[in-house]
Amino acid sequence: MFDKAKRVFETPTRYQNFIAGQFVDATGGNVISRESPAHGQLVSHYPASTRADAEAAIAAARESFETGQWTFSYGGDRARVLRTVAGLIRQNAEELALIETLETSKPLDAAHGEVMFSAELWDYAAGAARILAGDSHNTLGEGMLGLVLREPIGVVGIITPWNFPLLILSERLPFALAAGCSVVVKPSEFTSGTALMLGRYLKQAGLPDGVCNIIAGTGDPVGQAILESDDVDMVAFTGSTRVGRAAIAASAGNIKKLSLELGGKSPSVVFADCDLDAAVDGVIKAGTINMGECCIAGSRLLVDARIADAFQVRIAERLQSLRMGDPLDPSSRIGAIINQAQFDRISTLVRDGVRDGARIVCGGDPDNHSGLYYPPTVLADVKPGMAVAREEIFGPVVSVMQFETLDEAINLANDTEYGLAAYVWTNDLSIALSCSRRIRAGRVWVNSALAGFPEMPLGGFKQSGNGRETGRYGVEEYTELKSVHLQVGLQSERWVEGA
Ligand code: NAD
Repeated sequence: MFDKAKRVFETPTRYQNFIAGQFVDATGGNVISRESPAHGQLVSHYPASTRADAEAAIAAARESFETGQWTFSYGGDRARVLRTVAGLIRQNAEELALIETLETSKPLDAAHGEVMFSAELWDYAAGAARILAGDSHNTLGEGMLGLVLREPIGVVGIITPWNFPLLILSERLPFALAAGCSVVVKPSEFTSGTALMLGRYLKQAGLPDGVCNIIAGTGDPVGQAILESDDVDMVAFTGSTRVGRAAIAASAGNIKKLSLELGGKSPSVVFADCDLDAAVDGVIKAGTINMGECCIAGSRLLVDARIADAFQVRIAERLQSLRMGDPLDPSSRIGAIINQAQFDRISTLVRDGVRDGARIVCGGDPDNHSGLYYPPTVLADVKPGMAVAREEIFGPVVSVMQFETLDEAINLANDTEYGLAAYVWTNDLSIALSCSRRIRAGRVWVNSALAGFPEMPLGGFKQSGNGRETGRYGVEEYTELKSVHLQVGLQSERWVEGA
């Protein structure tokens, strides 16, 4: 893989937008250049699309939707296209994983796993295209039959972040296509490569021109144009709560539907009776996966006071053995942080945490490492009011707090404006069920961390967003319901007498 990466360093990949079935540069020909965060080498050039490019992509999507070619197509035909894309993703998994690793700096193994899981999502959505159905009501009286139709919502904008580029897009795009929508995709300006590659697979799979348009560019103007457009019926936005809040305002013009998947501050809740070895491993996985640049990162460790000291020492010991280094090296588990701004934000939050009274159990010393590598860090003695306990850090940093009772654990878990995920470690069924029911989060894992299945819906409570992706609900998200009232036989009653 080092050889293939070297070839990319020598000749960075030049990508094009995919609009109305054509591969095109941005109007004016400007590009966004991306360096690999781990290697400091140029790896990609994406089109720096303009508002005019966004409008062209939206117009193509609108036109394709109005023709009904995809919207009214047989579900089996849609399924074939989606399944073919799944196959192409698998066929090109090595190349896609390399792009992800070079653009994000995530370990290559992890990137490969995400690519393969993305293919699963396309396969699942292919099945969903065939079983999507509405309801019928045969109980409305002799003269009336009720049909509830599920129709595609229309033109959907999909705006995605940089942390899991292909995976997050695959949790949304095939589901919108399965529902019969036309789509405009805008990936993050830091990691657009794999999204732009998808255009080629969609074309090869026979998707009609204009049904899916993929354009690279910055949030403003491209994302903003999608949010503001009256020709877009829905936007699925995944990103920070800050931009999500702005998206609500920007989308108000035509009252478009917004599905928002935003930030998180998820707890790992560890009870004294748990399987400690499994919990240590799971807490580390939830806290450091993708360098902690993960919306569902277990960035708060809530641990029973009786085992807290011993537990955090064990976590620190195990973290020492997590190899941090070149993400192309198969032995690396922690790559570099996405960019300097994110690196500085992590450093500042940790420094401020220590100033406010937190104690570093391990890590916290980025100056001892070169480049954008931030070492896995555990902060003890954290109090619920501190920024490290409340703000999304998006780095490999776990803030530890202690509890003494079940109620205290649940209150601490819920003491956040976010609600994406929670990890519960206990062998007591009653504690597991209480936590699963009372913690306000879109996903709860009990004695496991981050296991994912296309069947299971994902999304957030509170300021982590609304709407659900994947699973049956993930397809339904991209539909509108229409009630059709069918008179059976002749209508004998008259509203106007004598008519
Ligand atoms: P971000 O909010 O900065 O950007 C996300 C996307 O929005 C990018 O494509 C960006 O170009 C675009 N954007 C920026 N400004 C815009 C504007 N004014 N109008 C329209 N689009 C605009 O987020 P990020 O830094 O790329 O990603 C990190 C954030 O994403 C974290 O907060 C993380 O929690 C969140 N996230 C959430 C989930 C989830 O499923 N809940 C998944 C992954 C990441």
